[in-house]
Amino acid sequence: MQEKDEKLMEKIISLCKRRGFVYPGSEIYGGLAGTWDYGPLGVALKNNIKNLWWKKFVDGREDMYGVDAAILMNSAVWKASGHVDTFTDPLIECTKCKKRFREDTLKEKGTCDECGGKTGEARLFNMMFATQIGAVEDSSATVYLRPETAQGMFVNFKNVVDSFHPKLPFGLAQIGKAFRNEITPRDFIFRVREIEQMEIEYFVKEEDWQKYFEYWKEEMLAWMESMGIDMNKVHELEVKEEDLAHYSKRTIDFEFDFPFGLKELYGLAYRTDFDLKKHNLTYQDEETNSKFVPHVIEPTFGVERTFLALMLSCYKEDTKGEEPRPYLAFNPTVAPVVCAVSPLLKNKVELRDYAHIIYRTLKDEFGRVMWDDNGNIGKRYRRQDEIGTPWCIVIDFDTLSDDSVTIRDRDTGLQERIKKEDIVDYIKERMN
Ligand code: ATP
Repeated sequence: MQEKDEKLMEKIISLCKRRGFVYPGSEIYGGLAGTWDYGPLGVALKNNIKNLWWKKFVDGREDMYGVDAAILMNSAVWKASGHVDTFTDPLIECTKCKKRFREDTLKEKGTCDECGGKTGEARLFNMMFATQIGAVEDSSATVYLRPETAQGMFVNFKNVVDSFHPKLPFGLAQIGKAFRNEITPRDFIFRVREIEQMEIEYFVKEEDWQKYFEYWKEEMLAWMESMGIDMNKVHELEVKEEDLAHYSKRTIDFEFDFPFGLKELYGLAYRTDFDLKKHNLTYQDEETNSKFVPHVIEPTFGVERTFLALMLSCYKEDTKGEEPRPYLAFNPTVAPVVCAVSPLLKNKVELRDYAHIIYRTLKDEFGRVMWDDNGNIGKRYRRQDEIGTPWCIVIDFDTLSDDSVTIRDRDTGLQERIKKEDIVDYIKERMN
């Protein structure tokens, strides 16, 4: 079991590099630990994840307000939120080889993972990246790259309330970058230093928090399922009281069965009124004319971990043929490429011209459409399977006389003949 899983991670990392999903950051200069760059297919997959999230949780709802706050914020925000004092991990150094680790990730407590030497005492290491703002370098100019998007929403709570007068319950939502100086970035894009989060701060009356906690738990599960994450690999972990973050009274981690262990995919936290109180913010109920501090339920989703969980959930190998056929069984809405268009022969001008008209029509309709005329048809199918393209459309000599094309299904390998004018509807029907 273990051996099979380790190979799976290698296969995914290699596929991501080869096919243009994810490259090591700053690769030609030897890389930069904890950073990854997304290639054409990776950025398409990430955009699909973010757009689907925004569509479901912001545009699809009547009680959600989107914001996009600055990454650099006044340091007073991070003092008030508790991050300057408590956003720390236990850092430990090997007394022999001097390598540094996060204490709770060591395979054996007190023993270096690298050389087996003894480790020293743990000290708390703040994970925020600090930088200087402006031309004067003194401590008053220190600012931090935000370690979570959440505070960008809390500090805009009053602005949104003043502009829109929302009634409780309502939420603020944001997608954006966050930065954490992780002691040991690892496991491909699972633990990185530059992350992208999709977060919601949902404001409720204190007495309603349990009801909305349960509600958001179901919403998060429904999202995972709709994306095509393997629900057999998702487990809920009730975080123990002693392990709760300083702002939380209850947290559930949705863990995913990654090949390197059962690890957090998403979190759902009851943040109480901690943050709004710290920022001295209140809510005026216009109906009852009362003033109070709302409580907060926070569903939080990492983009990179969604990406990896999707890759691992969708990677399949069809073993019916002579050689195993790897493919990514992405939902068509999630897939980086909706369909590929191919002229049967690369050098036949009449096939190319015909195929190009279809390609242009489909591109105008779906955007994520690929032109593929490289190698023989079998090779093209395998390439598209590997990147998870649900349909390949081939224009051959019969097309020129009967205006029909071959459309091939990624998961079954089955081919159908359909009329040129039916292609858009054929795909649209299956996308819904
Ligand atoms: P972990 O325990 O794995 O360090 P966390 O509890 O610190 O995670 P949160 O603060 O709850 O994570 O962050 C919210 C979400 O952001 C996580 O559920 C995860 O999806 C994502 N995330 C957090 N840290 C990282 C990271 N270093 N790399 C990639 N994604 C991350």
